[in-house]
Amino acid sequence: MGLYIILMGVQGAGKGEQAKFIQQAYGIPQVSTGDLFRALKTREDDFARRVQATMAAGQLIDDATTNQIVVERLAQPDAAGGVIFDGYPRNEVQAQFLADYLRQQGQTINAVILLELDVFVAFKRAFGRVTAADGSSYNYYYKTDGVQFRFEDHPDKLYPPRLVATLPDGTTLLRRPDDASAAAIIKRIDTYLSETMPLLPFFEKHGMLYRVDASRSLAEVSADIGTLLERVRH
Ligand code: AMP
Repeated sequence: MGLYIILMGVQGAGKGEQAKFIQQAYGIPQVSTGDLFRALKTREDDFARRVQATMAAGQLIDDATTNQIVVERLAQPDAAGGVIFDGYPRNEVQAQFLADYLRQQGQTINAVILLELDVFVAFKRAFGRVTAADGSSYNYYYKTDGVQFRFEDHPDKLYPPRLVATLPDGTTLLRRPDDASAAAIIKRIDTYLSETMPLLPFFEKHGMLYRVDASRSLAEVSADIGTLLERVRH
């Protein structure tokens, strides 16, 4: 039997880090439908162009197309032992399709892991986060470790002002462009709430939903996920 995990969580809940942990511990790849669609950028055919236009308009791709791209991805050799789904399923039609498809393959959705985090904490984790060139990360609200943080006026006087972080040697630290805008973070939190919440009753009804407290350290959250996956794997 493979291991099929759906990972859900608001931005800042540590979804990327926990996906890495699961990937390393169980040797299954992360499948992000957003990434699969973005990869079509290099294609010039009508289908790829239609997908690009829909994404550019900020709309969801239709369910049939989305399910098809997932089926094709699952057929690749590295997915033979299962996958971690990220950004899929996004509605009940997709969730039902996936459950039925896996059943036909003699497989099942082993667990839907919801990384639960208070949305105000989620905001601070994303907005306050900066990364150094060596990959170490700091946070204005939670982990300064000698890094100097200051707010600078935005050139267009937009609110909030920019958060700028520098190391003691004067090096400026990097912020992910999607973390730098407070409005963009709020929009993503809002999208998460409106897209994810409606799916929970479906997963709960099928006994697949596992809630994990994501306010703790990465290691503690990984330990919980490890225990949970050992349980559902058998
Ligand atoms: P994401 O990176 O997950 O935010 O996805 C980026 C874009 O890809 C979305 O705005 C949609 O246009 C498309 N997309 C990704 N996953 C799905 C899905 N499960 N259903 C429909 N559209 C999707």
